[in-house]
Amino acid sequence: MTSTHKPTAIITALCRKAKLAMEFPTFLVLAALAVGPACYDAMAGVVSEHVSQKNLPSKIPLLIVLVEYEDYKLVFTDADWNRKIFSMPTKKEEEQRFDLFGFCGSSVNNFFQETTSGKFLFEPVAETCGTPNDGVVRIALNRKHPKNDPKAGHPLGQALCKVSQYVDLARYDLNKDKRLDDKELLLVALFAGGEADQTQTGYYCTYGRQSMGGGYSRNATVVMTERRDDLREKYAELTRQAKVEPKYKNFPPSLGTLVHELGHHLGSPDLRNTGYYDTMGWGKGCGSKNSIFPGTTLRYNKSVPCHYGAFCLARDGLVTPILLKEPGVYTVYSADTGKYNVYKIPTENPKEYFLIENRQRKGFDEFMGKGDGGAGPSGILIWHCDESQKLCKDWVHLERASKTQPFYPFPKNNEFSSISNPNNRTNDGKPQPWKISILSNSASAMRFQFQPGPQKSP
Ligand SMILES: [Zn+2]
Repeated sequence: MTSTHKPTAIITALCRKAKLAMEFPTFLVLAALAVGPACYDAMAGVVSEHVSQKNLPSKIPLLIVLVEYEDYKLVFTDADWNRKIFSMPTKKEEEQRFDLFGFCGSSVNNFFQETTSGKFLFEPVAETCGTPNDGVVRIALNRKHPKNDPKAGHPLGQALCKVSQYVDLARYDLNKDKRLDDKELLLVALFAGGEADQTQTGYYCTYGRQSMGGGYSRNATVVMTERRDDLREKYAELTRQAKVEPKYKNFPPSLGTLVHELGHHLGSPDLRNTGYYDTMGWGKGCGSKNSIFPGTTLRYNKSVPCHYGAFCLARDGLVTPILLKEPGVYTVYSADTGKYNVYKIPTENPKEYFLIENRQRKGFDEFMGKGDGGAGPSGILIWHCDESQKLCKDWVHLERASKTQPFYPFPKNNEFSSISNPNNRTNDGKPQPWKISILSNSASAMRFQFQPGPQKSP
């Protein structure tokens, strides 16, 4: 049950092994902690190079590759995974979306539908394995589970080179370069075994050219173990106390981890200054909520992904920001309206700009921020983005309305200008001439006034 190896030890070992073997020239690793996504420093500066950004298609084909070993078999079915990624949950499942222990209740597509106001979804890759065209293929490896043996090497390459047996990759290689990029096809590889058991393989994203067979290759794959065994003990304790029959025997990875890692595919880096208001936030606990298991007084932490913030959505091409130039009163909508929008105010540096969005505590955003469920504040967020910062995890930070919370308006603070606190100075200290005044209280549609300010004389 308990891991004898710390994740970092395994990751280091895998990195070293990969370099020696030259299988994954830039093998980089993410680890996700029990409560949500977390990433290793090694990722920073690399992830964002993947997608050449902007104007993502409204659908991207996604393939789930389930991998098992001679001695470790998969426990979840193809149908489980098809649902977890692609389904739109029923009303009843929707109500259970925050059930930490259940398999479904919400899906990756449900998350993207909500976050993008219905502009983007994943579609199952057509394939001939098992149930045809459910987007799930199964690969059985002729080898034993590497367990914690750093010399065994990660089996990702072995598994992926079998993909072309089941998928007509030519169909997805839109630009015919024999390389499937992140706009053409995404891969999630799930390996038999459980995070936090002695077979730990952790959660990884790997980067480096990987063969998919048939002369095709690709660069990146979300790699995870199929189960979260760290939840077993907690679940057993909770059901014992509640005197209820255990409903679940195995626990899939959390939705938060999936959407975080897929966010990297779409072009977002890890971000460390987003204060749990962006699911690409650096570290654990994006929107974790303290919950009570029914029938007990036992508390546990639910991990719920909050939305991607305006920076990631804009960078990934999931929203096109509206450029603010003219003076006027503008309305900013939260995602639940189906009219989610983002405003952008540029600076002299084309890589530095401010973004304005409206975030309400609805749907997955109910638990945004850290550990406060439902009742917390909401409203307008002002993001200061600067893609010329050396480390991409520093590319964005929130201009917080107060020390305690980031949302505007805040009592006695409904303006953002060069003399407000915080202020609109660029990272090299230049005050910007414009001013924003928030005119609405927090609501799904909020108005603000934009004044461009005195223009510089030519
Ligand atoms: Zn990450």
